[in-house]
Amino acid sequence: MYINGEWTDAVHGSKRDIINPYNQEVIATASEGTREDTERAIKAARVAFDSGEWSNTPAGERGKTVNEIGRLIREDKEELARLETLDTGKTIEESRGDMDDIADVFEYFGGLADKDGGEVIPSPIPDSTSKVVREPIGVCGQITPWNYPLLQAAWKLAPALAAGNTLVMKPSEITPLTTVRVFELFERAGLPKGVANLVLGAGAEVGAPLSESLDVDLVSFTGGIETGKTIMRSASDNVKKIALELGGKNPNIVFADADFETAVDQALNAAFFHGGQVCSAGSRLLVEESIHDTFVDELIKRASRIKLGNGFDDTTESGPLISADHREKVEGYIDVGVNEGATLAVGGKRPEGKEFENGFFFEPTIFTNCTADMRIVQEEIFGPVITVETFTTKEEAIERANDTIYGLAGAVFSNDIAKAEEVAEQLRMGTVWINDFHPYFAQAPWGGYKQSGFGRELGKIGLEEYTEVKHIFRNQKPAPVKWFNS
Ligand code: NAD
Repeated sequence: MYINGEWTDAVHGSKRDIINPYNQEVIATASEGTREDTERAIKAARVAFDSGEWSNTPAGERGKTVNEIGRLIREDKEELARLETLDTGKTIEESRGDMDDIADVFEYFGGLADKDGGEVIPSPIPDSTSKVVREPIGVCGQITPWNYPLLQAAWKLAPALAAGNTLVMKPSEITPLTTVRVFELFERAGLPKGVANLVLGAGAEVGAPLSESLDVDLVSFTGGIETGKTIMRSASDNVKKIALELGGKNPNIVFADADFETAVDQALNAAFFHGGQVCSAGSRLLVEESIHDTFVDELIKRASRIKLGNGFDDTTESGPLISADHREKVEGYIDVGVNEGATLAVGGKRPEGKEFENGFFFEPTIFTNCTADMRIVQEEIFGPVITVETFTTKEEAIERANDTIYGLAGAVFSNDIAKAEEVAEQLRMGTVWINDFHPYFAQAPWGGYKQSGFGRELGKIGLEEYTEVKHIFRNQKPAPVKWFNS
């Protein structure tokens, strides 16, 4: 752990083994913190913020430091990517892509740090000036999940630092390695001590104090909906600001007039990339009835050919799931789907063969004959599972797509661009892709409608989320108002 500029063990000295999901080998041993460790880290961040050393550093200078972190990440890209693949099982090609995106995020927010000078607004009161400025919020608690460990951390760390905050980061206890490594780069980039602190350990023990503490001004959380609700409840006790990036059950709408090859290929990618362990995975496929049979036949054929294996093997297209527990959760949904009456068209089990014996592998799975009321259609499975439904009209597609508690992302495939744009406008989601799936980048905001959460990351708004807005009014001709005669 990294607290107040020093590498430190947990106060009580506990450790946790970090497991490679490909073969269950122990790849590292991490400190396992407790509440006391988090409290120490919060204290360090509070003192650092109140000292003003970082928040009063000219924004352009802060930006340079954040940029330098991006440069160091590029320099260490290969090592970071290898660490991410060891820790998550994802393919090395994907991890390399993540590292490029992460460096982009630091460089984007580094560049943005000194671009918003606030605004002078026309005051309705004579002889006065009125200006609106943005200031850092203060101490930020940041909690991240295991599916994109460093990427999700970067979306929080870069804007918080660029805006002049101090922070306590808590990565997922099962995938902390790249986050730890990046804190070493913070040191090299010259971040003052106490500005960025890192605590490791389980959510209820190390994460919970962040939303409970009066010394933390904002908690930004990415993870599951139930954890999000817990954080919201405890943050309400002290009216803490929170931002929640939660799950999704993201519709992928394919019209009959879509380019067939593109739509099939993208449907595979939408749902099975990183074993479907993606918050924006296109796990809910809605296909226009007239092409359903041909589309689904092709999808099944290709899904059964996806090459699972070691993320370090160049021919591997998808790695294992993250853990034994998580695979069991995904497996549980196979029984649910079958019992609900959906047709298990392909997959639904662990792959056979020596290579898969020790890893948490699960076959790409497609359920057909699904209906909107099924749990497998409504709940986030977070694994390689597609549910297929059909529709006959544009209106039906929109209604079905919006019919979940989530609102993170969705896509529409059609060569009728006017129709696709109309559907995109009607979807109640934070991101909609037309004739594509998955693109995200530092410049575009990311976040959810409905129970997928609130607050936005990335884009200009991603920096604003880490600021407070202040109105400063100045009377240029001060004089008594004489409201009271006494
Ligand atoms: P999770 O909610 O189990 O854990 C996320 C983090 O919260 C972990 O660091 C965990 O230790 C911590 N935590 C657990 N209990 C806590 C508590 N009581 N107080 C504070 N922190 C606590 O989620 P996960 O299984 O790690 O991640 C998968 C989920 O993340 C999926 O639902 C996925 O959709 C979501 N996700 C969302 C986005 C997005 O951008 N919206 C991105 C990635 C993942």
